[in-house]
Amino acid sequence: MQPEDSSKKRALLVINPRARSGSSSVDPAIELLSDAGFEIRETRISDGDTISDVIRRDASEIDLVIVGGGDGTLNGAAPALVETGLPLGVLPLGTANDFARTLGIPPDPVQAAEVIKAGQLHTVDLGEVNGHLFFNVASIGFSAELAAELTARAKKRWGVMGYGIVAARLLMRSRLFSAYLEHDGETEKIRTLQISVGNGRHYGGGLTVEETATADDGKLDLYSLEVDHWWRLLALLPSLRKGTHGRWDDVRAFQTTQVTIRTKWPRAVNTDGELTTYTPAEFRIRTKAIRVFIPPEPAAGLGGA
Ligand SMILES: [Mg+2]
Repeated sequence: MQPEDSSKKRALLVINPRARSGSSSVDPAIELLSDAGFEIRETRISDGDTISDVIRRDASEIDLVIVGGGDGTLNGAAPALVETGLPLGVLPLGTANDFARTLGIPPDPVQAAEVIKAGQLHTVDLGEVNGHLFFNVASIGFSAELAAELTARAKKRWGVMGYGIVAARLLMRSRLFSAYLEHDGETEKIRTLQISVGNGRHYGGGLTVEETATADDGKLDLYSLEVDHWWRLLALLPSLRKGTHGRWDDVRAFQTTQVTIRTKWPRAVNTDGELTTYTPAEFRIRTKAIRVFIPPEPAAGLGGA
């Protein structure tokens, strides 16, 4: 074995290919890190490989992983980060960067690279549902159905406006469903439009799980929209943005570390924007699951910094 040069910080750089082609801002970020003494090994994800496969393969030869992408790309890296214990640097390049927001990581890749360079690590929690890890939120009901209807093709064709049209159409015909919530030694039967289980603070590009939720409090924050009519959501929207919706009578909200959600028929579970599993859904918190480079300024989405 060759002696290692301990002054080198060997970083595996994994970039979402779609973000790579569209973004010129990533090159100055990489340059900044190279100048700071990081040995950057950029890897490509070939067909049939997951981001986690790539990380696992190189794990013994690297000191950290830098993920360039959004929440979807981070989710792909999560299993290998948990297994290997390698620290994570985030370069927000995706369309949804809610986890970076929770940690206070700047949206600008060069500024985000400065955070990695500064080297301050913090340990954060992950959510888990039926073995699938998530950073921000997992939902059952309306938003999961929306994700299912919103195929990549529709997104491409109609863009943001298409999202609104599909959402409005779906909302108008969406119905409440029955679910059983098993948590903290009790079982509750509820009628709901949507159940969301959050790990961090921000999700859905501007919504807040709960105003005091953090990614390091060792808790999941569950809320259930038990509204009579879908149009109640219009009134609730400002509260959903601020994370104060739990104060409304028709929103159930509580913190827990473990919850099982059962429904009469299997329902899709959306984890950070992807449909990954179905009910029955067993949720649990994975406390202190990964180490992430964070800015020195305290972030609202972190408590114990
Ligand atoms: Mg939490």
